[in-house]
Amino acid sequence: MTTVTPPLPYRVADAWAETADTRSIELVPAGGELAPFSAGQFAMIYAFGVGEVPVSVSALRGRHGGLVHTVRAVGAVSTALYRLRPGDSVGLSGPYGTGWDLEAAAGHDVLVVGGGIGLAPLRPVVHEVLARPAAYGRLAVLVGARTPADLVYRDEIESWRGRARVEVTVDRPGPGWPGAVGVVTTLLDRLDLCPGRTCALVCGPEVMMRHTARDLVTRGLAPQRVQVSLERTMHCATGHCGHCQLGPLLLCRDGPVVGYDRVASLLLVREL
Ligand SMILES: Cc1cc2nc3c(=O)[nH]c(=O)nc-3n(C[C@H](O)[C@H](O)[C@H](O)COP(=O)(O)OP(=O)(O)OC[C@H]3O[C@@H](n4cnc5c(N)ncnc54)[C@H](O)[C@@H]3O)c2cc1C
Repeated sequence: MTTVTPPLPYRVADAWAETADTRSIELVPAGGELAPFSAGQFAMIYAFGVGEVPVSVSALRGRHGGLVHTVRAVGAVSTALYRLRPGDSVGLSGPYGTGWDLEAAAGHDVLVVGGGIGLAPLRPVVHEVLARPAAYGRLAVLVGARTPADLVYRDEIESWRGRARVEVTVDRPGPGWPGAVGVVTTLLDRLDLCPGRTCALVCGPEVMMRHTARDLVTRGLAPQRVQVSLERTMHCATGHCGHCQLGPLLLCRDGPVVGYDRVASLLLVREL
């Protein structure tokens, strides 16, 4: 079982808009040390008086040395986090869950595939690979969003070009959209993929992960070389309450990042 840690007070050092319904916040400890997160792990963030929700870390160090989280406002708690402004306080516990297995990716081409807000937990991976290029092979980043207005980290994605192969697609283009249109899997055709030396990390809506992972395996990647980050409703984050069960897995403890080889059959069962 994961140890239960009480939420510690964190202060919002910075907050900025990503899209109309999504904002990023940088959190610094109100006292003591920054909790030691790794890419792919999540925090339980408590909006005082409203509630607590799981949120991935979207950068391990922000401009103020804190943890960056990107939150899409969908309900009461995420909207309270979306509304935070510099100087506000939250409670934070974690790190929780499994992170991306970057040791497995070392020495390999790294393929990052993010759909919508699913790019958030993948962004620290891009930061890591760009910071230590000698430790990895080629980096490709494929991004999908519903519309151009839903694209998170738009400027930053542009800044990756030249150091990584970057491809972006949207489901519904707006006027003047110069890029690709279609689901993110269509971007795989543009890559010169070497299945034997590629490690793929995928996060987005479940249907997108299912199609992407299956497509990658069809193209020759071993299922264990495809990591996916799965979401289920989480309450305790410590493997006690069972809300995030997926077959034999409790995703707060055994996930959110899991090898596709462990979940391929579970993802085929509707409503599981
Ligand atoms: C491991 C993990 C990491 C996450 N990382 C992020 C992140 O980086 N950024 C971010 O914005 N969100 C993230 N989420 C989702 C976030 O936790 C939910 O959006 C939040 O719990 C919703 O709570 P609420 O009170 O705002 O809304 P609720 O009132 O609880 O729900 C509002 C609507 O959102 C839906 N919803 C709630 N939880 C989820 C979920 N987990 N997946 C899909 N739909 C959901 C509900 O069905 C409902 O339709 C993550 C979830 C998990 C499990």
